Amino acid sequence: MNASMIVDQPLAVLGGPRAVDREDEPDLFHWPMVTKEDEDAIVQVLRDGDMSRHAVTRDFEAAWGEYLGTQYNLGTCNGTAALMGAMYGVGLRRGDEMITPSFSYWATALPCLNLGATAVFADIDEQSLNIDPGDIEHRITGRTRAIMVVHTSGYPCDMDAIMAIARKHDLKVIEDNSHAHGARYKGRVTGSIGDVGAMSMMTRKSFSIGEAGMLSTHDRSIWEHATAFGHYARMRDALTDPKLTPFVGMPLGGFKFRMNQWSSAMGLVQLKHYPRRMAEIDRAMTRFWDLLEGLPALRAHRPPRDSGLTKGGWYLPLGIYDPEALGGLPIEKFVEAVEAEGAAVKRTGYPAMHLHPVFTDADVYGDGKPTSVAFADRDTRQGPGSLPVTERMVGRLVGVPYFKLDRPDAIERHAAAYRKVIQQADRLLKVT
Ligand SMILES: *Cc1c(COP(=O)(O)O)cnc(C)c1O
Repeated sequence: MNASMIVDQPLAVLGGPRAVDREDEPDLFHWPMVTKEDEDAIVQVLRDGDMSRHAVTRDFEAAWGEYLGTQYNLGTCNGTAALMGAMYGVGLRRGDEMITPSFSYWATALPCLNLGATAVFADIDEQSLNIDPGDIEHRITGRTRAIMVVHTSGYPCDMDAIMAIARKHDLKVIEDNSHAHGARYKGRVTGSIGDVGAMSMMTRKSFSIGEAGMLSTHDRSIWEHATAFGHYARMRDALTDPKLTPFVGMPLGGFKFRMNQWSSAMGLVQLKHYPRRMAEIDRAMTRFWDLLEGLPALRAHRPPRDSGLTKGGWYLPLGIYDPEALGGLPIEKFVEAVEAEGAAVKRTGYPAMHLHPVFTDADVYGDGKPTSVAFADRDTRQGPGSLPVTERMVGRLVGVPYFKLDRPDAIERHAAAYRKVIQQADRLLKVT
């Protein structure tokens, strides 16, 4: 049966046949792709017997640096550690403010509280779901030190506008590149455009090597400070700054952020294949969204064609759902109906951080006031209604199928499932 016939059948949620039989293609969504080459590389580290040696991590750092075009690279145990190293590296200290989106995984913002700094949340753009450059400048104060950006689901931020604001006000820009390995902004790879890029490489990310992270920068001083903060065993070789060299051997942060060597070994193998695998994901996801182009209610979260922006490995691809376009059909009902068709779908997104009690209330270190403002010279906390776009968008996100292989037939069936539900939404309204 072809896709157009599927679309006209009764909805599965109302007793009709399913559009997709998912069981028949388990490899369509499987990630990461692991071959004997990965296994052999990891076993080699095991056999070498010196599990904490640095050579393989240094090799991976060098290879990653070549990929990004960044001279200084530092492997870490996870993305959170890379982000915290980057925050310390750009000079975020007690009482300083960092402007960041509220719509992200917590590690984008939360580690700055450990440095005694404060997160000031900016709103996001409706199209890209990235920090809105137009909502940054009025939040800058004398205490602002840095802007943290996130390339949400691989959609590159408006880096020209952000860098211009940062340069004008003498701020550092950190890119949380955890969603966007290999994404391009006007020809440049994300994570290499700001003052420093920090990223997760944990299992679910598009560049995926277990539990790992990476900090990448052109700025030696940022790299030295990040090294001094959490990499005691690397300090002797790395540090040249006379303010840091007296402390060689003791990490200033009291943390150990060293990367696991098995992940480094896997990283070297994965990186060789990543551009090709990423290109196939891009073809598959583009095919899926092209099939849904022009339909009401579900907008693709992807940059316009010819914008010079690409989504890399398309981490956690999103559709933006508009209930009004389907007569007010709640997102839960939409997702339930698509799921009944056998297609991959789920409600997704992050809770808005600015409203979470860890930012509004928690006194983690016994300062007698919330940790988020413990060293701030003003109360920066932001209540409901303070970030209207963020607060609206968090309830509108649908996780669409994350195809790893470009199989036209399977992709067409998934798209048909979505199309079927959208075209027949009025039947669902009648039963709700
Ligand atoms: C996954 C992720 C992180 C944290 O990385 P870990 O490796 O899990 O510590 C940080 N920021 C964003 C946006 C993420 O998605």
